[in-house]
Amino acid sequence: MSGVDQLQYLTWLLYLVGFALVLRRTLGRPTPAHIDMTLFFGAVAVIVLVSVASKIGLPVPAWLGNDVAAALLLSLGYLLMRLVADFTVVPEVLLRGVEVGMLVSIVAVVALPPPLPLGMVIAVVAYLCLVIGYDAWAFVRQARRTQGVTRRRMQSAAAASVCIALVIVGAGVSAAAPKLGSAVDEVNALLGLGSGIGYFVAFAPPTWLRVAWQQPEVRAYLSRAVGLAGVAELSETIRELGRTAADAFGAPAARVALWDADKRCLHVEGSQVPESLARAWTTQHASLTQIDLSQAEAALTASFGIYEASAVLSAPISANDKRLGVLLVFAARAPVFANSDLELIQLLADQTAVILEARTLIDQAAGVRAREEAARLKEDFLSSAAHDLKTPLTGIVTQAQVMKRRAERNPDAPTDMIGLDRLLEQSHRLKSLVLELLDVSRLEQGSLIGDRESVNVADLIKGLLRQEPDRWQRVELTAEQDVTADLDPPRFEQVVTNLVENALKYSPPDTPVHVALWSENGQARLSVRDEGIGIPIEDQPLVFERFHRARNVDDRRFAGMGLGLYIARGIVEQHDGKIWIDSTPGLGSTFHVAIPLGAAEEVTA
Ligand code: ADP
Repeated sequence: MSGVDQLQYLTWLLYLVGFALVLRRTLGRPTPAHIDMTLFFGAVAVIVLVSVASKIGLPVPAWLGNDVAAALLLSLGYLLMRLVADFTVVPEVLLRGVEVGMLVSIVAVVALPPPLPLGMVIAVVAYLCLVIGYDAWAFVRQARRTQGVTRRRMQSAAAASVCIALVIVGAGVSAAAPKLGSAVDEVNALLGLGSGIGYFVAFAPPTWLRVAWQQPEVRAYLSRAVGLAGVAELSETIRELGRTAADAFGAPAARVALWDADKRCLHVEGSQVPESLARAWTTQHASLTQIDLSQAEAALTASFGIYEASAVLSAPISANDKRLGVLLVFAARAPVFANSDLELIQLLADQTAVILEARTLIDQAAGVRAREEAARLKEDFLSSAAHDLKTPLTGIVTQAQVMKRRAERNPDAPTDMIGLDRLLEQSHRLKSLVLELLDVSRLEQGSLIGDRESVNVADLIKGLLRQEPDRWQRVELTAEQDVTADLDPPRFEQVVTNLVENALKYSPPDTPVHVALWSENGQARLSVRDEGIGIPIEDQPLVFERFHRARNVDDRRFAGMGLGLYIARGIVEQHDGKIWIDSTPGLGSTFHVAIPLGAAEEVTA
């Protein structure tokens, strides 16, 4: 047997096996695309059988040998075009034109006695080459628009069509120039084998090949999806998984629909998904559903932002018997290679289940950590608060006991004014500590700031100075008069008081405290500067934290809980402002506050 013969037998075998496979599939699921594939392979199979019979000398009826085989050969271009039309839109006139061309060429070839005139051979070959060339081009175009397995199958179909077109050219050449015969036969045998392999892998690919083709998509999905397990927002993970799945399919859209156990429904970004669209949820198998464009389903898909879909692939997302949701891939047309697509979507849905489970575990771990942290903070808070409250409370109790004993010993003695002053001072301290604690809890509940009003800040500060003429003797105020801001006056007073009290507390008694107020870049600016102990560099970023006191502060010398600045920052930030420090240890500190000017002020500033 010559090499050419061997190639030919192999090609025939491929087409025959291909026909058997697509026929079996069509009997199981007779979709239009499956039927068209069977027609195409069937036509080739008959041609092959006739050729085999004549090669091995079996008697073949003349009508079958010549007429039917020739007619089937001439119909191959048209049958391929029907397949193309299953994937993409082929203009109706083109399809009708090709039908007419097919009929004309069949009639000509069957009716005219051999040998055919050269002009006729050229016309028939040109017709077939043009039609199959168009089919090849349409497959290439469709390959570019799709992804994954479908793309590879389209590419194979395109390559096979090019081979077939060249075989026909070759047959035409050898008919016109018989001298070239053997060389053309060899090339044709190779091209024929190419076409057989191409169509076989395009329309009846073996499982191992489909799996190999799916690998890159699955790997790309996995590598993108793994990074998503740690993304803070679950909704963002879900959206990104959808986008990644759409990319894997080259589909216009894909969504992860999760099961809401409370509402007992599947939902996508707040919209409920009808179970008719997510058949996989009920069946727990990957499935393909046509969307009826005229019905409610189309409106529903539009409600979650999908307009082009006419089919939806769905696959259950389940982990260890736990049903989490479904993966939905929306396709503009029902996929022709539904089996490959169903396998791929199931693979992606399984990976999605792993990602979602990983996320749940991460969330649970974060929840446990957050609860532990909250419990620790509460303990810290209680022990700090108890410690700070104990000092003035002990002072009050001791002072009250001393005064009581004195009064018992000498009921007629004059009132112990010094003792009462001490009692009052400690009580005030206790009260301000308790108020600070209350403020902290209000701050954390976000309810520290009350109603705001337009306030002249210079007047507000002057008012404070008037309230504390003795204690605030060292304060030197430089204020622009017309600085107005929308603020909660008592809370803003609290900020100014805290900064000034700190400046007085942490600086020598003979040094001034400079308070300045001005407007700058649409903001009311306040600074409180002292010439005191300053704040060590390492503590500067921390002094606005709860309970933080700088290391150069001795608890016995400077009373305090480390809450004032924490509360001040909360108040300023709730006024949409900022607070910061500028401090040199040993030389002094300046605290800065900036809050937006009031609306009226901003126009003139
Ligand atoms: P408290 O003064 O009650 O400790 P604050 O929250 O008001 O609490 O201040 C936090 C810490 O910031 C203080 O303990 C102190 O270490 C430091 N601090 C605040 N103001 C000044 C200042 N004007 N000079 C030096 N250190 C300061």
